[in-house]
Amino acid sequence: MSKADRDKLNPATKVVIGGRRDEWTGIPGQTGRVVNPAVWRASTHLYEDSAALAQGPRTNEDGHLFYGRRGAPTQWALADALTMLEPGAFGTMLYPSGVAAIAGALMSLVRPGDRLLVTDNAYDPTRNMGMGLLKDLGVETVFFDPLNIDAYRALVGTGVRAVFLEAPGSLSFEVCDLPALTAIAKEAGAWVLLDNTWSGPTGLTALAMGIDGTVNALTKHVGGHSDLMMGAATGTERLYRRLRRTAQQLGQVVSPDDAALALRGLRTLDVRLKRESESALAIARWLSQRPEVAGVLCPMLPGAPGHELWRRDFTGGCGLFSFILETTDNAARVRFIDALELFGIGYSWGGYESLALPVDAAKDRSVSAWPPAGVDPECTLGVRLSIGLEDAGDLIADLDQALGRI
Ligand SMILES: *Cc1c(COP(=O)(O)O)cnc(C)c1O
Repeated sequence: MSKADRDKLNPATKVVIGGRRDEWTGIPGQTGRVVNPAVWRASTHLYEDSAALAQGPRTNEDGHLFYGRRGAPTQWALADALTMLEPGAFGTMLYPSGVAAIAGALMSLVRPGDRLLVTDNAYDPTRNMGMGLLKDLGVETVFFDPLNIDAYRALVGTGVRAVFLEAPGSLSFEVCDLPALTAIAKEAGAWVLLDNTWSGPTGLTALAMGIDGTVNALTKHVGGHSDLMMGAATGTERLYRRLRRTAQQLGQVVSPDDAALALRGLRTLDVRLKRESESALAIARWLSQRPEVAGVLCPMLPGAPGHELWRRDFTGGCGLFSFILETTDNAARVRFIDALELFGIGYSWGGYESLALPVDAAKDRSVSAWPPAGVDPECTLGVRLSIGLEDAGDLIADLDQALGRI
């Protein structure tokens, strides 16, 4: 199949066929193949002779054996599959965690004296990177309210190197106008990065909107089984060249065993996300009718904040959303969370099993409100749910008995 024909396939097909090139699933000179790229464990890569060794550094291309830090077919297959999923992408770099991918992408763009704009609802470690490491390196990070386009336009006009977006926002799940924010940044000559972990490349075609690159915590949906830490950054050719140079200089590499696990997770990504989204929407609907709940922050839910933009720009969702309790008594929230039987309490999300976590996002915001507009400002006690693959009715029954403890 030609590259153009492959690019036209739907995400559900791409996650199945991605990265399974003949040269990574077969033995050169022999017929027959295995389904999955093998796990190539390697530090040293061997050369035919001295002439080939001398040639090695000069080629420095993807898909050539060189040295373990550049990966081998197992990592290449994962990167190849992720690139194929993102229309408009040239390449993907892999990192040992999602946070490492965010750091790698930002470090490839900003230099001392630069100004970086970061969405106010970004993942907490992204904010900390701006206020910590990047500040120490002489980069000024300014947080902006992603829903206030006029204020954002004024900030972009002050001369910024890059804009870092996340949609929906971490914890609060507002959806910003991605095409509008991107167009304003591009007009000003700024790079645009998006943390696209929530919907992933199967649920949002970010580069097609003009975004230069996406960061994805593969730890979440792609891994999908709560047993893997990994991140990826995927970009246009111009961005990818920088990502690759920076990752090589920082010595970023993922193990072939982890890459194989991520590839295994990827194969079922589309079907897991569909199932999770369906259950999450049913649960969000049910919660929105409950007297103990002051608001549901789930963009897939009609009437919830960000729903219209989510429907316009995204083709998929996932099982992660928050809701705000009507009570202002933290002890009641603790009783509720501790009474849950089918939800684990813990960080991360996107696994096959459901999780619950208390959310108090005010401390993670500089210029936007918590709770978001539309929720009684008196009510600040949030709970984030990551809905897994259990039966939605069983999860609702569990939430029902636990809400009774409030
Ligand atoms: C978890 C998460 C990350 C970081 O991923 P790790 O693999 O845990 O480092 C980045 N962005 C978002 C939105 C996340 O939820």
